[in-house]
Amino acid sequence: MRFVSMIIKDILRENQDFRFRDLSDLKHSPKLCIITCMDSRLIDLLERALGIGRGDAKVIKNAGNIVDDGVIRSAAVAIYALGVNEIIIVGHTDCGMARLDEDLIVSRMRELGVEEEVIENFSIDVLNPVGDEEENVIEGVKRLKSSPLIPESIGVHGLIIDINTGRLKPLYLDED
Ligand SMILES: [Zn+2]
Repeated sequence: MRFVSMIIKDILRENQDFRFRDLSDLKHSPKLCIITCMDSRLIDLLERALGIGRGDAKVIKNAGNIVDDGVIRSAAVAIYALGVNEIIIVGHTDCGMARLDEDLIVSRMRELGVEEEVIENFSIDVLNPVGDEEENVIEGVKRLKSSPLIPESIGVHGLIIDINTGRLKPLYLDED
């Protein structure tokens, strides 16, 4: 039997007493899609800083808010299936992806028995350091705007959020 960690057990136990106000009637047809980082410090901070709540935006997260093919596919679904017409990439200061220790990651992968070939491909695909967080946001904006899947009528903006204060700084605003 698969070992069930304490974390998931705790979550499930807590959830027994959890009751959320029933929002099944909530209209959730937001026009906004946010692409951001999976950093745990963004939980709650990002929503408050942007002034958004449940049902207000589609949110796509990954390590380092990298605009890769998967993100572009999700953005396309948000646009064509869900009516989104504005996309904001929100990078953040002190992003872990800007200072990945590739040697450490590779040695941990070896320790945990990942095959060398898999490690090599992972290194090429994933361990490209983001470099500068602000440049990474601009790069993401460029990739979205140049993607044939994203029509020109969609607003694509780039911001960076201060991970400590929540202050937003515009890096690129798509103004017609
Ligand atoms: Zn990050």
